[in-house]
Amino acid sequence: MSTILIANRGEIAVRIIRACAEHGHTSVAVYADQDADAMHVRLADEAFALPGTGAGETYLNIESILSAARAAGADAVHPGYGFLSENADFAAAIEDAGLVWIGPTAETITALGDKVTARQLAQKVGAPLAPGIDQPLKDASEVESFAAEAGLPIIIKAAHGGGGRGMKIVHELTDVAGAFDSATREAAEAFGRSECFVEKYLERPRHLEVQIVGDGQGRVVAVGDRDCSAQRRNQKLIEEAPAPGLSADQRERLHRSAEAICAEVDYRGAGTVEFLLAADGTMTFLEVNTRLQVEHPVTEATTGIDLVAEQFRIAFGDGLSLDSTPRPQGHAIELRINAEDPGRGFLPTPGRIDVLDVPGGPGIRWDSGLRAGDTVQPAFDSLFAKLIVHGPDRSAAIARTITAAKELHVEGPATVLPCSLAILSDEAFTRLGEDGVEGIHTQWIESELLPRFEAQDRPTPGSGGQMQRMQIEIGGKLTTLGLPAGLLAALGSAGGAGQGSTDQGGDGSAAGHGGAASARGGEGGAVAGDVTAPVPGSLVDFLVDDGAEVAAGDEVAVLSAMKMETRVEAPVAGTFHRVAAVGDVVAVDQAIARIGCGIAQSIARIG
Ligand code: ADP
Repeated sequence: MSTILIANRGEIAVRIIRACAEHGHTSVAVYADQDADAMHVRLADEAFALPGTGAGETYLNIESILSAARAAGADAVHPGYGFLSENADFAAAIEDAGLVWIGPTAETITALGDKVTARQLAQKVGAPLAPGIDQPLKDASEVESFAAEAGLPIIIKAAHGGGGRGMKIVHELTDVAGAFDSATREAAEAFGRSECFVEKYLERPRHLEVQIVGDGQGRVVAVGDRDCSAQRRNQKLIEEAPAPGLSADQRERLHRSAEAICAEVDYRGAGTVEFLLAADGTMTFLEVNTRLQVEHPVTEATTGIDLVAEQFRIAFGDGLSLDSTPRPQGHAIELRINAEDPGRGFLPTPGRIDVLDVPGGPGIRWDSGLRAGDTVQPAFDSLFAKLIVHGPDRSAAIARTITAAKELHVEGPATVLPCSLAILSDEAFTRLGEDGVEGIHTQWIESELLPRFEAQDRPTPGSGGQMQRMQIEIGGKLTTLGLPAGLLAALGSAGGAGQGSTDQGGDGSAAGHGGAASARGGEGGAVAGDVTAPVPGSLVDFLVDDGAEVAAGDEVAVLSAMKMETRVEAPVAGTFHRVAAVGDVVAVDQAIARIGCGIAQSIARIG
């Protein structure tokens, strides 16, 4: 039995710690300062501090993690997903330290992490591939000739990109040069490598993927497929297994291509091969994720295979537990429970979880990194839990997921649940894959779903407009009374309001405006004229110069919180004065700039 250090936090650390306990391994947690009392720390057999509060100092710090592993006497390291899980240097450092790395070799991570070499591998084994240039681009003219030959639209992508960033879609030939320049510039800024490549852009595609496991000696087995088309900003929200509506040929093609690509590099461990499927049936290889995915439980639910246990087996030299693709049993759906407000363009809403009532019943699995009373930390990902529901077939699984999602009750931060519920009951989702049905695709949430909510009004969490609901009994009948939080607070300070069971904000009724996350400064009771941070995070950039004239609604700054960028708008027109600096870490509602107008302008100038 081994001692396994889990170089991660949150729900995935908890998931792996549970697997350690089940299989007789000793689990070692690591933690940033603010996670000292986190669920993964409480559940692990031992825990070691990674001093600091930012991801860079802690869960991304190879040296800190290595010294925790040494102090713990660990035999192996499991990286989870995100953080260092796809970092070849980390994998190499773990192996150089004489420890078992629970993942593919550093060489495999490097080869597949480069999207150009991954495309070349896909090409070599005959995987479905949209036309593209399988070499780093030299100049814009190369892209122009490709566009002239393959037709528009095309997509220019960073070879070392990730997280849906560093991609430019081009619809007009005249835009190619500009798109090429900004793609290479952004790639260099975001990923430290400017290489880009180009491929044909598929309109409204579905996102499909294949879970594979490999023994490191050339044997690779596809465990099953998933559909993850419900995405916002290229990030998944709902996933399911198996992918609905595929022909036997399409499924076979996906599974065998995924196996062939990974066999080519003697893949070791669990991994995922991603594809797109356009409405006209065009399929293309996208990339390989060399780690466990967030959505791995839907494959576990439909195959009965514990993928973390499988990772342990492979890493410790016990080989694969399966030799061919199992037949999926029933259908499974996963809802990501993110602390984000769909009513405000999926703005992250970190904070304390006051109430967390989780659903139960047949086929329900709840994977969480938090319990009631814990805090969704602003420095890390907004995903804090996952609800995985298994049913005998797809429609039963959908019905069961809706029931469970309605039973799930979160008080404190806003969550994406209202949006997930709206998706689950929309025909584009319920009839996905049926003949003649325009099912959901990767842009569907932004282009189709969110605009429909525009007319509805959803209270803004964390602001004075918030509703508080409580149960009261009138004439022996229980009923729900909703009151503006501001009114309740006023009554409370006058000694009037009782506590009761309150429900802050949207319970199931999806609403709000769509598009990219953008928020007006000046909310939450700040002085008019202040541009305030709508989320806690770091100030990435100012979009207007100090002293510039701005109009109300102009985007003036970019904040980064929970891996997402949020654009901040000017609340009023006037002269823009910066009061924070790029790189500052700001609290919610903290002023980052002041807009001077009239008297206020004069005061600002005097000040
Ligand atoms: P990342 O590593 O940043 O996640 P991917 O290559 O996996 O980048 O692409 C992310 C998303 O971008 C896809 O899920 C899809 O929505 C979109 N995308 C990427 N390539 C294409 C393409 N050729 N056609 C249409 N959409 C694409």
